[in-house]
This record gives sequence, structure tokens and C-alpha cells, in this order.
Amino acid sequence: MKVAWFHRFGGPEVLVYEETGKPTPGAGEAVVRVRAVGINHVDLDHRAGTSRIPVNFPHILGREFAGEVAALGDKAGPLKEGDRVWVTCRLPCRTCDPCLSGRDNLCVREGYFGLDLPGGYAEYVKVPISNLNSLPSHVGFEDAAASQIAFGTAWHVLINRGGLQAGQSVLIQAAGSGIGSAAVQLAKLAGATIFATASSDQKLERAKALGAHHLINYSRENFAERILDLTDGEGVDVIMEHVGGEVFTRSLQCLKRNGVIVTVGAHAGEVVPFDIIPFFRRELRLSGSKNASVMELRTVMDLVAEGKLKPVIHRTFPLAEAAEAHRVVESREIFGKVLLLP
Ligand SMILES: [Zn+2]
Repeated sequence: MKVAWFHRFGGPEVLVYEETGKPTPGAGEAVVRVRAVGINHVDLDHRAGTSRIPVNFPHILGREFAGEVAALGDKAGPLKEGDRVWVTCRLPCRTCDPCLSGRDNLCVREGYFGLDLPGGYAEYVKVPISNLNSLPSHVGFEDAAASQIAFGTAWHVLINRGGLQAGQSVLIQAAGSGIGSAAVQLAKLAGATIFATASSDQKLERAKALGAHHLINYSRENFAERILDLTDGEGVDVIMEHVGGEVFTRSLQCLKRNGVIVTVGAHAGEVVPFDIIPFFRRELRLSGSKNASVMELRTVMDLVAEGKLKPVIHRTFPLAEAAEAHRVVESREIFGKVLLLP
């Protein structure tokens, strides 16, 4: 089978397209013929070595993918060869305290495809049968491979950690990003009033088309001042903050009394100054968000199947052009997901 893998850390050119042996399933395992795999920024971090997580070489990336069951190690389960599936991106241990308390996203022994196990940048991937989820015939492989992580993370941020409810207001930072555009759709579904920021008017128009009500170009104006203007000085109930640095600090200025800021990324700065006084006087709340639980992933994929959430796909590439696809993602001049089609 063909894979796009890397043998050392470095730039996109280290991703090489080569022939290797096809995996065979053991008991409790299946082999999936990958039809589409989503590129996540974490793939680029792993390839560059900046994720600070050691990997074994040669390394096959690819955290979220969909395809067909090509082979089953045992036939006991409900699925059969040829069935269309999406594959849960995480492998929680299902025995630790967080797993047993329904918080499997905080599993202390979890694994990921594309990191701990060979991922989806390949024609075939071996997966535990418990990671297989039936994919309805009307949901395309590309949509399936573009939805799980963006919508799952956005759900965990807004609904689980942010407690967002109908009638509340929410600020979504960098609404032009993959997770940002997913969050706009979810916040609309939740019945919230949506304030969206982005670096360009073009990205803001796209956020508006997805359901954002108030658009703020943060390269031109101070978003915190603008939000205070728009809300009679009150601020917003929930903030999804995945930028970090000054954006995090400034976000605190437009958080409503008893509001919650959920932090889920820090590419623009990992250590920031923090004014404690207004924080306790206004009973503000800060919540970290890691990633979605398996149940949350299934919830958002059901919403995709029902047509209530629609992934935004920027572009697809054949697997042989994985290096070029990484260059496109790295440029950040994208709106939506970039996919590889093995
Ligand atoms: Zn666990």
C-alpha cells in the first residue's frame, strides 16, 4: 500500500510517498481502506517536532479519517467488510478514573492515531473495532474526515466547558480558522448571539454566512472596545479563545459579569499577564479545554449526518501531494479544512 510518512523532523519535504506492507487485523481489530483524511495543525507540529512529543520513525500522520472496512480480525461486531465508517480519533483506556467518570477526554493513558498509532496518511490503517462508527451513505467521506475534530472540539469548548445556552452571547476569536468556523455553526445551533473576530473582511463575510451576527476585524479595531460598545458595556457571556498572547488578555476586558473564557490554544503567546482584581470582583471564570470525549464526537457526527452542521472544506489533495497540502495549511491562507484522498 502507499503511505505518506516522514523519517525525520523538518519541513514539508520530509513527507515522502512510498510503498509499504498492508496491515492485517488481529482479534478485536479491523483494517480500514482510507478514502479521506483531514489535515490538522497538530500534524504539522508533529512533523516539525515542535509538539514536544517523541515519535517513532518512519511515522504515519493522520488523526481523523473515514473509509470502508477492508478486513475484520473477528466477525462478532455489527459491522461487516465493505461498510462505510468514520474512525474515532482517540483511544481512551476505558479503565482509568477519568474514563470511568465519563471524562474520557482526560484519560491518563490515551492514544491517538497519527501519533501513538499509525494514522490515516495511508491507503490502509489498522484500528480497534471499538473505534469504528457507521457512516450513513448520504454523508461523503470528505465531510466525515473534516468534521470530527473541528466540531468535536468546538462542542467541548462551547457546550461542555462554556455552558453556552440559548439567548446568551458568545465571542468566537479567529472565526476564519477551522475550529472558529465550526464554533460559529455550533453557537448558531445553540441559539446564541455570535460576535466573531477575524483578520480580514473576507473571512468575516464567510463567518457571517455561517451565522455570525456581529463582525469585528481585529486588524483594524480594538475588538474588546467594540464589543463593550455593542453590549452597552456589559460584555459577552462566553468567549472561545484559541489564540493566546494579547488576544487572551484583551478578551478578559469584554467578558460579562459571571462570564466564562474558555482557552483552547496559545499559538500567539503561552505566558500572559493577568489582572486578578477585576477577575474576582466581577466573578469571572477561566476554563481550560482539551478535546472532545468519544460521546461528544459521536454527537457532532450525528449532527453532521442530520445536516445541522456542515464542514467547510478548503481543498483536497491526492495522498502523493501530502507535502504540498502541508504547505497550504502552513500558509494559513485557508478557510476550512484541507484533506488528503489516499
Ligand atoms: Zn482512561
